[in-house]
Amino acid sequence: MNKKKGIVITSTIITTIILIVICFIVFNISPYDLYGGDRCPKCKSTNVGTFFYGEYDPEFEDSITLAKVEEGVLIPGGCVIDYDSPKYRCNDCSFMWGKY
Ligand SMILES: [Zn+2]
Repeated sequence: MNKKKGIVITSTIITTIILIVICFIVFNISPYDLYGGDRCPKCKSTNVGTFFYGEYDPEFEDSITLAKVEEGVLIPGGCVIDYDSPKYRCNDCSFMWGKY
């Protein structure tokens, strides 16, 4: 490989990386958002809870929902969904990620 070819390939790679970074910034996503809810991206724990939004009053919820909240499978996230409301939370290290 000659020197010129090497420079072209290197600059192509750098341009691609910059474009990907710009996409992440523009669409306000973090690399963690690409992870699903089956495993914590930080500590790899499978003890992951999913947020749910909307009204939540333990007095009026059915027993299945209550049990899931108790286990940490479901997490009440409140009534208001923000643009940065998380979708998942790790029950071991409390890390939150994902977009709702
Ligand atoms: Zn974790």
